[in-house]
Amino acid sequence: MAAAIDSSDIVFTAQQLHGLTRTATAALGRLLTGTSLMGAMLKNSAATMTVTINGGGPIGNLIARADSKGNVRGYVSNPETDLPIRTDGKIDVGGAVGNDGRVSVIRNEGSGEPFIGQVELISGEIAEDLTAYYAYSEQIPTICALGVLVDKDEGKAMLAGGMLIQLLPGADEGCITRLEENFAKLDSVTTMLAQGLTPKQMCEKLLTGMEMEELDELEISYVCNCSKEKFSEMLLTLTPEEIETLPLVKDGMAEIKCPYCCRAYYFTQDELNSLAEEARMSLASRKDESKN
Ligand code: ZN
Repeated sequence: MAAAIDSSDIVFTAQQLHGLTRTATAALGRLLTGTSLMGAMLKNSAATMTVTINGGGPIGNLIARADSKGNVRGYVSNPETDLPIRTDGKIDVGGAVGNDGRVSVIRNEGSGEPFIGQVELISGEIAEDLTAYYAYSEQIPTICALGVLVDKDEGKAMLAGGMLIQLLPGADEGCITRLEENFAKLDSVTTMLAQGLTPKQMCEKLLTGMEMEELDELEISYVCNCSKEKFSEMLLTLTPEEIETLPLVKDGMAEIKCPYCCRAYYFTQDELNSLAEEARMSLASRKDESKN
């Protein structure tokens, strides 16, 4: 199974939303691209994929979440992190992310318990780390290529894309060898995009000499589905005292910013009080239950 995407718009949107530096754009851009591909591989339409990378580097945590259509959103702890360009001319994503930590994946099929998998980071360069996740945690042989082209002087995101190839159980050795040979000969994803290749043409190139059956073509974008209701529910996980005493910053209202899309939601003291009341009532009913 092979999937390819042009994630240029997604990465550009993420850069604008979070004010990402050159290095942070490349790092989060790669993770957004990879997670979108992983999401698009999910069969269940209500399924979601959340990938967190914590490598101990200066950028902090990277988080991306995708739905089964490949729509994705994400953020990094320290969007201002920027490292010098490496001596080979590449952006130092591995240096910013670090490699002392883990990739964690939560795959929610839309019902039942989510699947949670973790592997140690290999390099913090992200494509390798996602490949390792599939190899060790899901035992699926995978090839992953991710690319984000950033203007080195201005730091502006220009092109981004990725490919994810997974072998179905029972794939024969010849097929694997052929794929690896084709992949080794392939230009980088951003080079192919710069040449004007579509994701479909990228797949065709990779699968040269092999049978290809086209399954799906998806229109993907940077999508956040947050709402005031969702943040109210999140507030209810705090204690009543914490809810009541949230700092009122703007026109006497508490502000909560969505980490994914940076949209701000405002809560008046009255709203906070009634949420605190709701939290108190659910605490009380939980206590009752534990007595019985
Ligand atoms: Zn949001």
